[in-house]
Amino acid sequence: MEHTHDHLQEAIDVLKHRGVRITPQRRAILNFLIEAHTHPTADEIYKALAPNYPNMSVATVYNNLHVFKDAGIVKELSYGDVSSRFDFASHEHYHAICDNCGKIVDFSYPGLEEVESLAAHVTGFAISRHRLEVYGLCDECKKKV
Ligand SMILES: [Zn+2]
Ligand SMILES: [Zn+2]
Repeated sequence: MEHTHDHLQEAIDVLKHRGVRITPQRRAILNFLIEAHTHPTADEIYKALAPNYPNMSVATVYNNLHVFKDAGIVKELSYGDVSSRFDFASHEHYHAICDNCGKIVDFSYPGLEEVESLAAHVTGFAISRHRLEVYGLCDECKKKV
């Protein structure tokens, strides 16, 4: 949306810093993730970009997503046995997920680091991260039922 160019440049800087070569395909996948806001699967990214990148395969997309994930600029959201979805991880945010169509919408909410401290205190875990999801019907599906 707003700062696509900045986000893309920042992501590219992170990759360069890690010695990752920036190919046109990598740039296209990153750009798609930044602009899509739909938390696409590897397959959806492939279908969207394949017409412009005839050499691309689902495997290339998947491999690149894992390069980005290792660099910390993309998050993989796994949901049991359904295909993972991918999210550009520029800022911490949480997800509202539609029970009907599976759409994922971002929202911000402050202060959940406190939950990590409390959990560490109560369980003795060294907490590294957390994930919050809320479920229900999205704006469009709400109108259909
Ligand atoms: Zn929906
Ligand atoms: Zn997200």
